[in-house]
Amino acid sequence: MAVEMLKSAVLTEAAAWMDKARCKGIDPDLFHPDENDEDQVKVAKKEKAKAICAECPVRLDCLEFAINKPEKDGIWGGATKDERDKLKRKSVKRNKPIRELAIQLIRKS
Ligand code: SF4
Repeated sequence: MAVEMLKSAVLTEAAAWMDKARCKGIDPDLFHPDENDEDQVKVAKKEKAKAICAECPVRLDCLEFAINKPEKDGIWGGATKDERDKLKRKSVKRNKPIRELAIQLIRKS
């Protein structure tokens, strides 16, 4: 029961910012390239997705959400899974909150 309530709360919290997502209505394949795509197609999709994320008003929420859900592949918050994993490791190593490092990453890009 508690898990169901937590799931519901998490989804509600996520849904609040997801409603403002810049990618809403855009083909999700852009953010989740197919493994069978050629490398240049994957790169092109990644660049397009990152450009959309760069103008997204909920990028920080999205990035933080994805970092805390490590099973998520694709571009979230303008970062690839590798970039998010790196940020998470950095957070542990430097004992800094993920959100603080996520803000720095967004400012750099
Ligand atoms: S940051 Fe990118 S993936 Fe996340 S909600 Fe915004 S546009 Fe979508």
